[in-house]
Amino acid sequence: MDKLKGRYTPLRRSLWVVGVYLLAAGLWITFSDYLVGRWFPDPETLNRVQTYKGILFVLVTALVLFLVLMRQFSNDRTMLSLHHHQREEIRQLNQFRESVIERANVWINVLDPMGCVVLWNRAAEDISGYRRDEVLGSDEIWSWLYPDDDDRARIRARAGEILRDEGEVVGYETRITARDGSQRLISWNSRSLRNDDGEIVGSIAIGQDITDIREAETTIRKRERQLSTLMDNLPGMAYRCRYDEYWTMLFVSSGCRDLTGYEPSELVNNEWVSFAELIANGGNEHILREVESAIGNAEPFSIEYTIVRKDGQRIWVWERGRAVEDNGELVLEGIILDISDRKALEDELSELAIRDPLTGLFNRREMARLLDEEIVRAKRYGRALSLLWIDLDHFKNINDDYGHAAGDSVLKATSGLLADSVRSVDVIGRFGGEEFVILLPEMDRSEASETAERLRGLISDTPQPLGDGRTVPLTISIGAAVFPDNGADASALCAAADKAMYQAKSNGRNQVVLAPLAEEAHNS
Ligand code: GH3
Ligand code: MG
Ligand code: MG
Repeated sequence: MDKLKGRYTPLRRSLWVVGVYLLAAGLWITFSDYLVGRWFPDPETLNRVQTYKGILFVLVTALVLFLVLMRQFSNDRTMLSLHHHQREEIRQLNQFRESVIERANVWINVLDPMGCVVLWNRAAEDISGYRRDEVLGSDEIWSWLYPDDDDRARIRARAGEILRDEGEVVGYETRITARDGSQRLISWNSRSLRNDDGEIVGSIAIGQDITDIREAETTIRKRERQLSTLMDNLPGMAYRCRYDEYWTMLFVSSGCRDLTGYEPSELVNNEWVSFAELIANGGNEHILREVESAIGNAEPFSIEYTIVRKDGQRIWVWERGRAVEDNGELVLEGIILDISDRKALEDELSELAIRDPLTGLFNRREMARLLDEEIVRAKRYGRALSLLWIDLDHFKNINDDYGHAAGDSVLKATSGLLADSVRSVDVIGRFGGEEFVILLPEMDRSEASETAERLRGLISDTPQPLGDGRTVPLTISIGAAVFPDNGADASALCAAADKAMYQAKSNGRNQVVLAPLAEEAHNS
């Protein structure tokens, strides 16, 4: 191609055309003169023929010239309009390029090989605070952006490497000092610029202000650290799990170890065991219902249930959580605490609330509640229910003779003996001082009478310990009443039994008296 171009320069081409023309014209003149000289020997005719021949030659060459020029000019005109078009396109392209550079929201600058600024776009002005007219054509910007000498030297060396074309730089970060003194973190992509001959004519740098992004990242990392410290120090286990049948854990805090005995990694994604498998017998049903209804009401849920730890120990836990949406999936987040101690304390407290501290039997209030319950049951199923009212005989004497502590010892021993001598379904309580009540579910009058008689005999046959190794003989008086014959509610039944017990006292003590049936009462 270059060879061709060299051979057909305009000068050579012109010389070649002229040469051909001279040769053709020379040949034509010589040859035609020779022919005409032979054909027309008469000098006058020859002269006239010569003139016509000359005019013909001029006409032919003029025609050829006309055609050639015509062709050339029309070519030129096409070329000219083509060039105009291209120039316009190039101009528009340049304008477009300039406006893109100008309006880009990234810092764009071009430096010449000396490090002087030759292009400085609007974003560069906005980020640095330095205007174009202040920075163009000088390299002062370096010391403004990087006031620290060492810093500047290092960064200029890096820019120098780019200029020497030792590679392109991607994501090179520098901290600049803006005009207002603030520090901005810029991430640079930079490379050298070459002209058509391949010479390096400068470098272009595109900078992105990542100060805010980096600050946000740092804040997020700090928060994450704080959160994980917080979670690791929480009592119990923080979690995030799928709302599925396994309660598939997506995250558990390190409290998982203490709570369940499993490593977090064993529980996450059901790797070794699913949380659902830890929930003790049937608890899952109840949890599912609670969570479902909480989600339905868009409320958080609080539930208590038992789980089985890795070591097999069963513990009570309290869970509070809520449903949140995560990328279109419903997940649960919350915390699970070990409340076994609290549960034990609660159990102890509730035992204390229903038990008599001296004898360990149910107290009066609990007995009243249980009696109501038993009456409801007896009514519903049409079953019998009997009640024994027991008072120790002459108990005051024991206190008087041996002291209050000895009296307590006798109370404990007697109540223990009574409790051990009834069925497990029977309910025994201390109603006051030295009065006891026994509920005998499903026992009719005669069965109650038998039981009462057996208990009376047992006590009177068993000397009671005074606590100092000695014993004392003791007897009891018992009044028995049956439901519903002697009373259709708790108070009527108690009154009837109490009355029967007083009857036993007045009959001479150490005996059982059955509350009279309606017709007996009527007769007496
Ligand atoms: P009886 O019932 O046979 O008529 O004679 P009693 O001596 O048992 O008479 P009463 O039932 O009126 O007396 C009850 C006595 O029980 C009075 C009180 O000092 C004594 N007592 C009540 N509660 C306690 C107790 O918790 N500890 C001791 N040591 N004595 C108690
Ligand atoms: Mg009494
Ligand atoms: Mg008494």
